[in-house]
Amino acid sequence: MTHLADHLAELTEFRDRDALDATLVGAFHDLLQPLSVAVYRCVGEVGNQRWLARARMAASDVVATADPAWTEIDSLPAVTEHPERWEVFTGGRVVLRSGQPHLGVFPVNVGGDVGVLEFHSAQPLDDAAQRLIRSVLRIYCNFQALLEYSERDSLTGLLNRKTFDASFLKATAESTPAGPVGGPDERRGDSPTSAHWLGVIDIDHFKRVNDTFGHLIGDEVLLLLGRLMRNRFRVHDRLYRFGGEEFVVLMRCDSEACAAQAFERFRSSTEGYSFPQVGRITVSIGFTAVTQGDTPSAAFERADKAVYHAKGHGRNQVCSHAALVASGDLAAPDGSKVGDVELF
Ligand code: GH3
Ligand code: MG
Ligand code: MG
Repeated sequence: MTHLADHLAELTEFRDRDALDATLVGAFHDLLQPLSVAVYRCVGEVGNQRWLARARMAASDVVATADPAWTEIDSLPAVTEHPERWEVFTGGRVVLRSGQPHLGVFPVNVGGDVGVLEFHSAQPLDDAAQRLIRSVLRIYCNFQALLEYSERDSLTGLLNRKTFDASFLKATAESTPAGPVGGPDERRGDSPTSAHWLGVIDIDHFKRVNDTFGHLIGDEVLLLLGRLMRNRFRVHDRLYRFGGEEFVVLMRCDSEACAAQAFERFRSSTEGYSFPQVGRITVSIGFTAVTQGDTPSAAFERADKAVYHAKGHGRNQVCSHAALVASGDLAAPDGSKVGDVELF
């Protein structure tokens, strides 16, 4: 019993979801000694849903592994390739299959974040094992829900500002830049080969929406814009509401053109969307490459300067900070300006 209590204590020790999934899998690996145990999350848009391994362990493994957060979605197995997982996912009930090995799949529901826990074992999972799995899963789901509550903005369901710094540093530390950071462009602060990009999205003339239609309708616009973001950006892009009518996207792309395209796609979708009662609204977007050793506030400030430029030049457009520095419209982060005789 102490053994189980130790695992439960460990499970609730972390404030990090990746660590939590690894701990859950590690606990079952230790308590039940299955041939393998894994937690999968269903990701992707309807029609192209895939299984992403959040944590998995085979009998001989010492630590859990996972699919990297930035895995290309098309490289993951389609949901239909694992019919039992799909059955659990859609039906919400446990599936047990005899065979060599025996299979047990359990639903894992944390708010909108739905997944499954899968066991392969030499012996069928007996009643006691199943009870243990259900009880530990309940604690895990309750704890995940608490984390979810503290990390999400209550209106839009996007990540809140509080979580930005930590996930910015974690995401950028996890990835190797697509090319060497530095070289001739480093002085500008935006490397063209950077792997991460940060975008700031600000609604144009939002005050008018509130003034004309009232705050409640204004809130509905924010909610719908959050939904549009989830549909238009990719599953592994991190989406935040920073407060008010300001949103932030942290994405991984190999080139500036790819990032510009993603932001342009969102700008154009917003322009084309008809918001109930309000009709059309537009957004101004500024984005920047995340450079090696960047801080969350420095990257945010660069993207915000590009938004400010968009606001002053007609709104409803996407501006790249690097392009504005290159054209001399913005000063480089070190204070210099392209074309200046004197650099300061
Ligand atoms: P600009 O195009 O220059 O961005 O103009 P704007 O009117 O969007 O910008 P401004 O920053 O002047 O006004 C933002 C408005 O957003 C002010 C405030 O009434 C509104 N706002 C901020 N937070 C919320 C919220 O949570 N709900 C609603 N409904 N409105 C909000
Ligand atoms: Mg604003
Ligand atoms: Mg605004």
